[in-house]
Amino acid sequence: MKSEYDVVIVGAGPAGSIAAKTAAQKGLSVLLIEKRQEIGDPVRCAEGVSKIWLRKHIEPDHRWICADVKGSRIFAPDGTMVEMSEEIAGGEVGYVLERKLFDRALAYESAKAGAEVMVKTRATDLIMENGFVKGIKVMHLGELHDIRAKIVIGADGVESKIGRWAGIDTSLKPKDIETCAQYLMSGTGMDQDYCYFYLGNDIAPAGYVWLFPKGGDLANVGIGILGSESGEKHAIDYLNEFVQKNYPDAKILEMDVGGVPVSGTIEKTIANGLMLIGDAARQSDPITGGGIINAMEAGKMAGEVAYNAISKGDVSTNALQEYEKRWRESIGYEIDNSLIVKDTFTAFTDKEINSLAHSLEGVNFSSMSLLDLLYALFKANKKLLWDLRVLF
Ligand code: FAD
Repeated sequence: MKSEYDVVIVGAGPAGSIAAKTAAQKGLSVLLIEKRQEIGDPVRCAEGVSKIWLRKHIEPDHRWICADVKGSRIFAPDGTMVEMSEEIAGGEVGYVLERKLFDRALAYESAKAGAEVMVKTRATDLIMENGFVKGIKVMHLGELHDIRAKIVIGADGVESKIGRWAGIDTSLKPKDIETCAQYLMSGTGMDQDYCYFYLGNDIAPAGYVWLFPKGGDLANVGIGILGSESGEKHAIDYLNEFVQKNYPDAKILEMDVGGVPVSGTIEKTIANGLMLIGDAARQSDPITGGGIINAMEAGKMAGEVAYNAISKGDVSTNALQEYEKRWRESIGYEIDNSLIVKDTFTAFTDKEINSLAHSLEGVNFSSMSLLDLLYALFKANKKLLWDLRVLF
């Protein structure tokens, strides 16, 4: 095992693999470590991504695309359905992935670019010297090793410890995290061309239920509720109730649970010799909980900034500020806007959600732009326009 690299990246999710690929393509020596024995498994994701954004990072491959979605159907608490085409729905609508294969494909891309990949290798601590991160301590097949690096990139997901070890506050309060539960189900009978979203405080307090098609008659059926809303009743209890009521004949084939940060941007994502990316940096979208694309975007930026900093021989926070600036001006801006919208919508009563849905009934979405859609919504709901005034 080599004990020194330019860059060591902890976590082989979408963020880590793209950072590794980018840094390796620039000619840096890169190690990507993953604590699990199989990259991408177990999956904790509904696996929806936007096509346009995905293509920026990797050529779509039928081996890891389960469904090519045409739009979304959104169900209000009283059952009113609003259908939106892909162009308007944007966001997470597009492809539904097979993440077990997708994450592996991304790691493979990083290996092809020259990065070394080590599975079953868990970061246990940082090596710190004179206020700088100088590498990591790892456990690999029962043995402890020190691996030195000019820069460490923490891509260790929602349960990240790397930031905390470097003194960065990444803590999440219950109101900053969506607790999620999901089944892979057969026999829902859903239209495989659409993603379904069910809203309502009885269905999913401060969250939603989703059905994402997975090809054939399979679907990811999941729920996210705000941690602060989870009392006696947990996300899985809400999901069971929903499934029993709406899809009683569907069969469960897999189950997973997990958390999604919905805190909005955190104050700091760098330290001397260290950058955080993806869920570790709390970069997922507060409304949708989608984090795959943001993780990849941040991974690319961090890989490029690592190269710039190492080339100049300066890996201090001063040099890594370029990463902070770039991600805050792009995905950070979107995340903060989403947080405002999320806070507005989670305060809505079921009656208000129904009224929003009614105002869109009969609207021809195929000939409508996103701006037209917002206009129609605001015209019918002046309060919404007022609540979201800071965005305009
Ligand atoms: P991860 O994908 O979590 O990868 C982190 C990796 O780090 C893991 O492989 C982990 O094993 C590894 N690791 C952790 N600690 C260590 C350590 N100490 N040493 C070595 N390795 C370590 N996003 C979307 O865009 N669309 C969706 O439809 C969607 N649905 C979701 C549904 C659910 C139920 C959940 C929970 C999340 C969902 N998300 C979705 C969010 C998405 O899964 C994450 O935002 C995305 O995976 C973040 O990528 P990442 O690379 O930052 O972290």
